[in-house]
Amino acid sequence: MQSVPFFNYSALFVSQQEHLLQTFQDVSRRGAFITQKDLSDFEQHLAEFSGARYAIGVGNATDAMEMLLAAAGISSGDEVIFCSHTMVATASAIHVNGATPVPVEAGPDHLIDPVSIEQAITHRTKAIMPTQLNGRTCDMAIVQEIADKHNLLIFEDSAQALGSRFQGRHAGTFGVGGCISFYPAKILGCLGDGGAVLCNDRDIYDKIMLMRDHGRNPLTGDIDLWGRNSRLDNLQAAFLDLQFKEYDKIISRRRYIATIYQEQLDPLGQLLLPPAPDSSPDHFDVFQNYEIEAERRDELKVYLADQGVGTLIPWSGKAVHQFNKLGFSQLLPYTDELFKKLLMIPMNMSLSDADVHYVAGCISDFYKK
Ligand SMILES: *Cc1c(COP(=O)(O)O)cnc(C)c1O
Repeated sequence: MQSVPFFNYSALFVSQQEHLLQTFQDVSRRGAFITQKDLSDFEQHLAEFSGARYAIGVGNATDAMEMLLAAAGISSGDEVIFCSHTMVATASAIHVNGATPVPVEAGPDHLIDPVSIEQAITHRTKAIMPTQLNGRTCDMAIVQEIADKHNLLIFEDSAQALGSRFQGRHAGTFGVGGCISFYPAKILGCLGDGGAVLCNDRDIYDKIMLMRDHGRNPLTGDIDLWGRNSRLDNLQAAFLDLQFKEYDKIISRRRYIATIYQEQLDPLGQLLLPPAPDSSPDHFDVFQNYEIEAERRDELKVYLADQGVGTLIPWSGKAVHQFNKLGFSQLLPYTDELFKKLLMIPMNMSLSDADVHYVAGCISDFYKK
């Protein structure tokens, strides 16, 4: 039987072993472990690629969001609206700043629902924080319009969306700042944890550069503000920079896989698929995930596992507002229904064309039975 894991972690290393080992030797022999040229080079490439004025490498995307919100002054008494279909990290970044995370509905495209945003706005609302989920950027024209109307800031959880665009503009560059994750299973993954903040504002940039390094002013040695240690490891930055050279190819490959899935699965009629790669002139999607809505989802998951195909139910099956222990009281019926059907099928760089056809074939078999 063929085996198609949901994600192959060791392949991330093995597929580029020689180059990674060379990089490891080169960086290590220089003793360049903390905030060295490899990091600043990667930051520069990241900024150039995304069209952001600044990119700051940090420990992970969760730290990135925490520091971004802090730098923008989000604090106790503030409410920040986010989509409940996201990683809990989006909400925790709001919470650790003393503010209240306010979850709202996902829409049919699985991204934040604009109507739901407007309904959740109160006199305490300070910001909207959309998650650019699955490598797709939401309709930022509408989000911007709502933000302008109510005088709100925008922060983007673009952990999954490096390279994704809306109307030509990159995820992470719309609001005060955007946060990218380099967790190994992300589109640009390193061999451990890593993240970045994209921003255009000099003051935000200066603050986060200080915050990620204990608040230490590199010129005076003085401590300018309360900080922490959340520097993107120089070795990881070197690994990332190496892969980043191929990033356009990585995105093309993912979009190609999405095209095969679209062709093979759309005729079945029992699934709702993500929008096809070229279905809208406004959206350029990079397919961090291929998240479908499936009838008889749980049965399908078991069937695929029996055929050797790994799948994943997002966030272990719960939207953020469904984590009872966190004390949310919002009722989000659309998202509740959505979470009975969501399933992610393999979408990664280890898949051969034959693997993709095999996965699609197994899904077809399940619904034809
Ligand atoms: C992966 C992810 C995060 C967290 O990223 P880390 O780098 O692991 O902190 C946050 N939000 C979303 C939507 C993610 O997918």
